Amino acid sequence: MPIPPPPLTTICSHCGWQHTSFPTSDALKLNVDLFCRCPACQHTELEVRPASRVEIMRERLRQFLR
Ligand SMILES: [Zn+2]
Repeated sequence: MPIPPPPLTTICSHCGWQHTSFPTSDALKLNVDLFCRCPACQHTELEVRPASRVEIMRERLRQFLR
C-alpha cells in the first residue's frame, strides 16, 4: 500500500498567494499539487511546507462549498 503524501501548502513570499493541496498519489500534478511559479505574480521562489490543521480544514471547506 503506497502511503499518500501529506497535504501541502504552497506560499508565495512575494504577493502572499497561498494554496493548500491534497495530493492523491505520490505522483504530484504540476499546477494542481505542485507549483513551479506563482499563478498570481509569476514569482518562482515558492515556499512549500506541510499544511497546518487550520489550512487543511479551510481547504476542505472550500472544496465542499464549491
Ligand atoms: Zn505571488
